[in-house]
Amino acid sequence: MTIALACSATAAPARAADAPTLLDQPYPGTLTLAVDLTEAPKRVFRMHETIPVTPGPMTLYYPKWIPGEHAPSGPIQNVAGVVIKANGKQLPWRRDLREMYALHVDVPQGTSRLDLSFEFLSPGGGGEFGASASSTPNLVDVEFNQTAFYPAGYYSRQITIQPSVTLPAGWKFATAMQVASQSGDTTQFKQLTFNNFVDSPMIAGKHFDRVDLDPGAKVPVHLNVVGDGAKDVKLTDQQLAAPRAVVRQTLKLFGAHHYDHYDFLLTLSDHTGHFGLEHHQSSDDRLPADFFTDKNMHTAAASLMPHEYVHSWNGKFRRPADLWTANFEQPMRDDLLWVYEGLTDYWCGVLTARSGLWTPAQYRDSMASIAAAMSARTGRSWRSLQDTADAAPLTYYGGYDWANWRRGTDFYPEGQLLWLDVDTRIRQLSGNKRSLDDFARAFYGIDNGSYVTKTYTFDDVVNTLNQVQKYDWASFLRKRLDATGNSLPEHGIENGGWKLVYTDKPNELDKAAEGLRHSLNLAYSIGLTASLKGEIFDVQWGGPAFNAGLVPGFEIVAVDGKDFSPERLEDAITAAKDSKSPITLLVKNVDVYSTVNIDYHDGLKYPHLVRAGGKDLLDDIAAARK
Ligand SMILES: [Zn+2]
Repeated sequence: MTIALACSATAAPARAADAPTLLDQPYPGTLTLAVDLTEAPKRVFRMHETIPVTPGPMTLYYPKWIPGEHAPSGPIQNVAGVVIKANGKQLPWRRDLREMYALHVDVPQGTSRLDLSFEFLSPGGGGEFGASASSTPNLVDVEFNQTAFYPAGYYSRQITIQPSVTLPAGWKFATAMQVASQSGDTTQFKQLTFNNFVDSPMIAGKHFDRVDLDPGAKVPVHLNVVGDGAKDVKLTDQQLAAPRAVVRQTLKLFGAHHYDHYDFLLTLSDHTGHFGLEHHQSSDDRLPADFFTDKNMHTAAASLMPHEYVHSWNGKFRRPADLWTANFEQPMRDDLLWVYEGLTDYWCGVLTARSGLWTPAQYRDSMASIAAAMSARTGRSWRSLQDTADAAPLTYYGGYDWANWRRGTDFYPEGQLLWLDVDTRIRQLSGNKRSLDDFARAFYGIDNGSYVTKTYTFDDVVNTLNQVQKYDWASFLRKRLDATGNSLPEHGIENGGWKLVYTDKPNELDKAAEGLRHSLNLAYSIGLTASLKGEIFDVQWGGPAFNAGLVPGFEIVAVDGKDFSPERLEDAITAAKDSKSPITLLVKNVDVYSTVNIDYHDGLKYPHLVRAGGKDLLDDIAAARK
């Protein structure tokens, strides 16, 4: 079949991607899609789709710009076995030469629907977000953008689809989609728009549990869990106390909700990718198996679920106009991600503390670590915070090497500092009568119950800030967004009555994270980060290690003439404080060894916040709301 397809494909004419005016009117007819996941444990998803058509040239798109990923990241490289038939006869198709996500096909006369079948070869490892490992022998996570093509020419919200999913025998599932009927292991879902289909992922597995996070509420919120073992999905009331508090505190913050029901779709596995992806009425949350049982893991990853939940308000219900697109083919523009992601990260830190997942001290540790990391962004001398958002499809995939110099997705962490600056400024200007909580209610707490996306612009953000507290917010924000230079332009920590200092001991939160990632963070002392085996991840541009000749990718083999160990390097940094001799490292670059001398004598440095006088606004921000 593959050979026949390849031959017939050459007969189809090559065409440039059409750029038709998109119709914002119903696409005639309803697509059907049968997703066969019975081979999900082998990482093969099989699809059979029907698409109502009229004769003539037609273009089918595979979703390219993935909401929440903010990038043209649809994993089309994993699509194989594409066969398009009309009335049982295989049709030739040709990929567009400029747009790899578009397939052109000529629909013959007498054809009212196309039958399209293909496989999605779900990755076993690597990849990012939805395109990372998504199935194990016991479970599967499905982002449905991977499972369907859609016709060009229409707003995708005007295309309807009737999906069904067949699971391995006995597996249970959760999704925000509504069940129409069930027969054996096949579930038919109610017809929905293509947008809502893509926005409604599924988790399924042999081991599954579902718990109510807001008992008695009119609008239910559930935590659905799949894992590789039965014990992984059984959560105790004690373990559920914090997620329940997250729901309560988030609803108190926004004062409205934008879903009919909300479902956390939590995967606890060591064999899938680990990330969260937001959706309007659900979130795809993937964490390691020991998230609830390992204290370090729980502390370090505590903010993931609050982050994705906040996105139901910030990102899904309210979305930057530039990020709203008529279909999954039109490019998204990421310039307001410092609101979409930055403010979400700010609220998620705050809610992680307000719900008791972090203590107030751990919340302050998180701000200390972020402020230190952003202060050490040497690349701020050439790249503004705004550019890290504008270039998000690049910054998401930049990697760790030279991250300080190239900068990364800094609109998340520096976005937090920016919004802390806004929050503390509102509190100062209003005599502590108002805060960013008022902005949350004014901007997101509207249209209670509606999940029709309401877009916004920079000016809308500024206008609502002005309703909360009169100030020149446009200049305030632009000054911080557009700044280049060596120092951090945000001052929320100082406004909040605290200051960033460095001591020779890591803070509690960093210690938890360091243990998990098996990394050594010496960015603020000799200027490098490395694995516990000595492989260098990043080197501070212009820092002591850089000046000694180290670059990312080198391996530290020995410290002052002895085998490398993390403790030995830390001890050497401490010992050098009282010495004029440099720290001598034997390093390996591929297969070449050399000796470098780091002339550094200031000791180990790790970030903390200490009180600096004035009112303590940070503790107020982190305090649970009654
Ligand atoms: Zn996010």
